[in-house]
Amino acid sequence: MTATRYGVGREELASLLAEAGEPAYRARQVWEGLHAGLLAPAEMTSLPRALRERLELALPPALDLVAESVSDRGGTVKSLWALGPADGPRAPAAPGHAPDGPRIESVLMHYAERTTVCVSTQVGCAMACGFCATGQAGFTRQLTPGEILEQVVRAARRSRDGGRRLANVVFMGMGEPLANEPNVWSAVERIHDDLGLSARHLTISTVGIVPGIRALAERPLPVNLAVSLHAARDDLRDDLVPINRRYPLDDLMAACRDYLSATRRRLSFEWAMIDGVNDSDRDARELARLARALSPSAHVNLIPLNPTPGWPTRGTPREHVRAFADRLTALGVNATVRRNRGTDIDAACGQLAAGQLAPRPPSGGALRQPGSAAASRALPLRISSRSARSSRPVPNDPS
Ligand code: SAH
Repeated sequence: MTATRYGVGREELASLLAEAGEPAYRARQVWEGLHAGLLAPAEMTSLPRALRERLELALPPALDLVAESVSDRGGTVKSLWALGPADGPRAPAAPGHAPDGPRIESVLMHYAERTTVCVSTQVGCAMACGFCATGQAGFTRQLTPGEILEQVVRAARRSRDGGRRLANVVFMGMGEPLANEPNVWSAVERIHDDLGLSARHLTISTVGIVPGIRALAERPLPVNLAVSLHAARDDLRDDLVPINRRYPLDDLMAACRDYLSATRRRLSFEWAMIDGVNDSDRDARELARLARALSPSAHVNLIPLNPTPGWPTRGTPREHVRAFADRLTALGVNATVRRNRGTDIDAACGQLAAGQLAPRPPSGGALRQPGSAAASRALPLRISSRSARSSRPVPNDPS
């Protein structure tokens, strides 16, 4: 297996250069060029030209840009990347053809006050949440630490070239980070130690993998944890988030409590608001009860559901999302309505599938109309027909 430029560790790089007969100080030069400088070997002008050329060949990038989509007047950029075999070299694409290999996406978001990248941690996802495009596409493989880190480096470089500084990373792209915890953690350490981002600006989002939350509690850097709750009672959560059948709410809440007491950090709950499914007053009360059962109590992020090809139900209308947030506030819970970015380029939460799904139908057609009596009945019926528990397998938990 050939190394890639962000897949090698510092010692590996040093021995690679030593074997090539280079003086010892080159290792530090190249390492700093890659991480502090965000440079490709070809751009490291402090190195002799011949060495630059050799390094370009010996340490190829792990990610090959296939396409870029831009929305929000340049504020959101989705990148589609082709990968090689787990951190190894990619076969060169035939002229005029896009590169082969598994694909992932990452999303760079510029806000007035900060720049954030949302990175993938797996090719696809095994968690099978029906409303998430990545879940609809299924699982292909784990990403390596180098592949995760390189997404951040490429985003940092693109930001810098545009006069912005990338300071935040959210592990909320394709995949379930805590089903790939060791690799995600290696990437976190490199992002922190070598790229110099603050741990408080890194957020790992999980569907609720209990052993992963417990593993994270043992890790030394104070990263943020977000738990994708979406339902606060087991029957509904079993249906929306199938891994709940393996790690039901009592176990998940116990892991969250232990995480908070071990780390003295905070955590947040993510709640994708699905019209007529998890946006009633009862849902608000159940959610508030769980948020307040934690100490300190969980912050709630509300995300109106984004459309995906395989899920017929629409997001809760804006004004009702606002009312739900106000209800949570009245119940003593801090809630934020998330800004939606890049919905038009399928770059928003839950929409990343790296081209593996058919495009979604034009809005209107397959979506139900809000407020009609038939519509209000449609989903509960659909859910109960799907929740015959034996009919859907519990996703494999690779942890
Ligand atoms: N697997 C991890 C991280 C990836 S998803 C997790 O589940 O947390 C990032 C967030 O987007 C999660 O909270 C996820 O539940 C949410 N999400 C998935 N599909 C969505 C959709 N269609 N609309 C809005 N949010 C969605």
